[in-house]
Amino acid sequence: MKAVKGKFFSRGVHLQGRKSLSETQAVETLEGVTEVAIALSQHIGKPALPVVEVGQAVKRGQLIAKADGFISANVHASIAGIVKAVEQRPDGKGGKSTYVVIERAETDETDFMPPLENPTAEEIVERVAAAGIVGMGGAGFPTNVKLMPRSKVDTLVLNGAECEPYLTCDHRLMVEQTEKIVRGAKYVATALGIEKIVIGIEVNKPDAIALFEQTDLDVCALKKQYPMGSEKHLIYCATGRKVPLGKLPADAGVIVQNVGTVLAVCEAVEEGKPLIERVVTVSGTGIEQPRNLLCPVGAPLSALAEQCGGVKEDAVKYVAGGPMTGNALVGLTSYVSKTSSGYLFLSAKETNTYEPTPCINCGKCADVCPMSLMPMQTEFYTNAGDYQKADVYGGVLSCIECGACTYICPARRPLAQAIKTAKAELRKSK
Ligand code: SF4
Ligand code: SF4
Repeated sequence: MKAVKGKFFSRGVHLQGRKSLSETQAVETLEGVTEVAIALSQHIGKPALPVVEVGQAVKRGQLIAKADGFISANVHASIAGIVKAVEQRPDGKGGKSTYVVIERAETDETDFMPPLENPTAEEIVERVAAAGIVGMGGAGFPTNVKLMPRSKVDTLVLNGAECEPYLTCDHRLMVEQTEKIVRGAKYVATALGIEKIVIGIEVNKPDAIALFEQTDLDVCALKKQYPMGSEKHLIYCATGRKVPLGKLPADAGVIVQNVGTVLAVCEAVEEGKPLIERVVTVSGTGIEQPRNLLCPVGAPLSALAEQCGGVKEDAVKYVAGGPMTGNALVGLTSYVSKTSSGYLFLSAKETNTYEPTPCINCGKCADVCPMSLMPMQTEFYTNAGDYQKADVYGGVLSCIECGACTYICPARRPLAQAIKTAKAELRKSK
């Protein structure tokens, strides 16, 4: 391996990691799941189309919904059982999604694809598509599409930054599945026709850095800075290349993949296993025993909470994802998806319970914005319903939704939420 000296980006924020709650907890398998609800839309793009009927028996790994078009992804059964329903259910965020509900059977029959030996680039891309692999760092972009970039790339950057507080699932994967991650990265590199692979890991994971230093990947020890895991900032810090505004990483010759995603690629190639399970961090001082759990996709949050000893009485907020970019949940109604990195159970001392006060024009939100935007302008014009001006003066469409502005604001203004609203309205109008 070669040690790569990481660069720094200006701005951003320095957060308390709060990772000690779960970072030493080895991954455990979630037990006792009797029913899963698997969403047809767990990815960016069109929802998958169901190919099973109510009452049908399915095996673990069997295709249950087919990708609908180029930007979409296959979905597979994560347990063997009987399809109980294909129905709309609350998604935990106040909306509804369509789910295939499977009731576990006595048997645990699997239906994986045949393993590939010395696969070609085309075979890897086909396998990744067939396995329904999507970006597991949170974006959910279909990975096979990313493996066919329009621009010439020469470098694969593995994202092992895991810069959000509390989350430790990628850390555990890097420590426990180092070799599989290396092999998965090499399959991705083969698919792209490149050789250079750099893994970026924040310095607060010294055990993971030490393990990858023993492999033949280049290792970049990244400064602990939020949002280091953002693609553009990671690329700059690990390679020194800048991705221009409005452009993609491939335009800078780079493809970024999360460490969990390349692990899924390894299992799809070598074991024929579709993306049907993932490691999820369950943490916060509002849960009895924070843990990292290997969960079937579609597992109900209640099962995760139960295996972690239950939710404490003083838990006042449930969050899907990290505290900076995650979504507040309405109760325990949520199901693990391909992009679920964590669930947090936060007590009052870990949450912002202050009411927003008027903006005092301190400029701190702009000072920390890693994209050099003007979040206070966005919020002002969004609240006035003028989304065009919100974009012109605030730069809505360049926002990476990192939440650093909301975090730093002394007036506790919900800036990132306003930006998300403006983005959604602008996209609708287009
Ligand atoms: S405006 Fe967007 S990119 Fe800038 S700090 Fe706020 S959420 Fe992050
Ligand atoms: S940080 Fe908050 S108070 Fe300061 S300018 Fe931005 S929105 Fe206003």
